[in-house]
Amino acid sequence: MTARILVVDDVEANVRLLEAKLTAEYYDVISCHDGATALELAASEQPDIVLLDVMMPGMDGFETCRRLKADALTRHIPVVLVTALDGRDDRIQGLDAGADDFLTKPLDDVIMFARVRSLTRLKLVIDELREREESGRRLGLNETSSKMRGAGGRVLIVDDNARQAARIAEVLGSEHRPLIESDPESAMLTARGPVDLVVLNARAEGFDGLRLAAQLRSGEATRHLPLVAVVDPDDRQRLLKALEIGVNDVLSRPIDTEELAARARTQIRRKRYSDFLRDRLDHRMELAVTDPLTGLHNRRYMSGQLLALMRRAARGGEPVAVLAFDIDHFKAINDTFGHDAGDEVLREFAVRIATNVRAIDLPCRTGGEEFVVVMPATGMEAAQRIAERIRLHASGTPYRVYGGRELLDVTISIGVAVSGDRNDTPEALLKRADEGLYEAKQTGRNRVVARAA
Ligand code: GH3
Ligand code: MG
Ligand code: MG
Repeated sequence: MTARILVVDDVEANVRLLEAKLTAEYYDVISCHDGATALELAASEQPDIVLLDVMMPGMDGFETCRRLKADALTRHIPVVLVTALDGRDDRIQGLDAGADDFLTKPLDDVIMFARVRSLTRLKLVIDELREREESGRRLGLNETSSKMRGAGGRVLIVDDNARQAARIAEVLGSEHRPLIESDPESAMLTARGPVDLVVLNARAEGFDGLRLAAQLRSGEATRHLPLVAVVDPDDRQRLLKALEIGVNDVLSRPIDTEELAARARTQIRRKRYSDFLRDRLDHRMELAVTDPLTGLHNRRYMSGQLLALMRRAARGGEPVAVLAFDIDHFKAINDTFGHDAGDEVLREFAVRIATNVRAIDLPCRTGGEEFVVVMPATGMEAAQRIAERIRLHASGTPYRVYGGRELLDVTISIGVAVSGDRNDTPEALLKRADEGLYEAKQTGRNRVVARAA
């Protein structure tokens, strides 16, 4: 998993060194020596990670970071601030500026690569979500970001050291709602609920914190939860293990209260952002299976459902019936009254079908003025009876268009087919219904014709 990394440092020798190390590990490196250029390069080159020196003349690392995070073009790119050793104040200031991570000088290679790998993974997820959100936006979704506002979140603290847990809860309590669990089983259960962040002790007495971290990472419901592990600063092994498992951040013991607060804020902000993107995605999924004009399901959704129902039927379940509808002389409606009136007819027709079938039936708009209803557990006789009922109902009263100023008489033709033996397929079933429909059109329209298997 490679990535493109922007290295920013005013000292040429530092840039060279980092460049050499990263390139040796097959990372693609771009570099510059000041904050202003870094902003330009980040926007134009779209790196996956920015490694940013804090101490630079002119615009320092904090200000550069703040601007990167304020710009919609660059805010999603993880920023790692490189601070002086023991730069506690630097870290807190950096977190406030929106930094995603820290490295201290002199750089420890193993830890640097572990961090870079973990941020590359995060960036991949964010990119994927952004890409899908982008295509969702092209479908005309409006932009609301209420989900992204509000910093306060529910923080699950998993620790069997009661004093440490209480201290963490106290620090976070002013901004967030902390919950404490002292054993991994109840922690897993709580984590499936509404939680925004998990702070867990990687070195608990009674359980293996990293094992729990791995379980949270692999669980469907907890996979996206940000995890912060509390580690001992000398326990390098455990720190690297934690990052490898996919922990989002680590806190060294003894816990610095301001750093804890700032790191929690960063993680929750990041979660809000990915929740927001994921949420948009759900909307898009819904759009992908719904016909926007009528609100009925579309062909894609119908195909999937029909396949599942026919498989069940083939395993000895009840037969599936399909009704194929086509409005008679619909082109004349468009030609005489306009396309908008045609659309009004389609919408009203959809309502008439949907109100004349059972809740388990599946009315869909499969094309321009073509509709299909899939009916589970329905034999030929019932299907024909229902088709006849819909035909009468759909054409029984005129269609009101232009706010009722025009009343149109509309008729429909219907083809009926029912699933046959186990070799029958959705394509064959739909084809038989279409053949029935074609025959109905040929023999005078406004009628129902069934096709046997
Ligand atoms: P028949 O089915 O009885 O043979 O005649 P028809 O006039 O309905 O024939 P055809 O299926 O060829 O015409 C369908 C028309 O539906 C053509 C197309 O312009 C129109 N149409 C397709 N999609 C839409 C739509 O979304 N809105 C409107 N208003 N018209 C549409
Ligand atoms: Mg037609
Ligand atoms: Mg047609």
